[in-house]
Amino acid sequence: MPRRPPRDQHFLIDERVADRIAGYAELSGDERVLEIGGGTGVLTGRLVDRCAELTVVEVDGSLASGLEKRYPSAKVVHGDALDVEYPDFDVCVSNLPYSVSSGVTFRLLEHDFDRAVLMYQREFAERLLAEPGTKEYGRLTVAVNLYSSVEHLEDVPRAAFRPRPRVDSSVVLLRRRAPPYEVRDEELLLNLLRAVFTQRRKKTRNGLLNTLHMTGLDEERVNSLDADTLERRPEDLSPAEFAGLSNQLA
Ligand code: SAH
Repeated sequence: MPRRPPRDQHFLIDERVADRIAGYAELSGDERVLEIGGGTGVLTGRLVDRCAELTVVEVDGSLASGLEKRYPSAKVVHGDALDVEYPDFDVCVSNLPYSVSSGVTFRLLEHDFDRAVLMYQREFAERLLAEPGTKEYGRLTVAVNLYSSVEHLEDVPRAAFRPRPRVDSSVVLLRRRAPPYEVRDEELLLNLLRAVFTQRRKKTRNGLLNTLHMTGLDEERVNSLDADTLERRPEDLSPAEFAGLSNQLA
């Protein structure tokens, strides 16, 4: 039997938080806006009159038709945010369904938008914002950093939602930009990250030697990399240092 996807339906009931989230987006009025998980429309209603075009993706059929009726000028896409095609957009403003945070974030980053104001589960936001050397720092941190800057905007307590979730939330701002360091081969870098972060507590040299099947590298190429970097652990390397490693291989 196909598993019904979790719907993460926790609606924002604190109007001031909703006002601030819409405010952070600093909409100019002539931008194309995308909202993922419109729900009952607490954000939708604050976006629809402040943009040129609003597209709202909502997986729940009855919520989607409710949004359609209440906001006839918005384009409501009834479907799963991991599957449906996103329109071209300048700004994304969403209280994300938390079970698809990672998938939706990477899908957003495939698009050429300007900025995104996103509410995440707090722990997920902390991973986006993490510094090297912390336990939250990892592949997600480096990969998102490759495509955007990340800024913390505010923490939102669980009491701001109904039904009350079992987790806290945080609002962050992503600004899409080219990486502030050279990346010769993005695929190679992403591959390298996938491999070494399965071995985050090992020295990078051993991590790479243990994952040759994932990267297609061989021992000789691993040992040709900068020796000081190879002596450190992946969790201690900055995004720029990872880029440096992958550039040596590109
Ligand atoms: N933005 C609203 C709703 C947030 S709750 C608010 O702030 O109150 C998350 C919403 O995302 C719910 O309406 C849920 O039905 C929807 N949702 C859950 N999983 C989804 C998915 N995979 N694709 C699109 N929408 C999804």
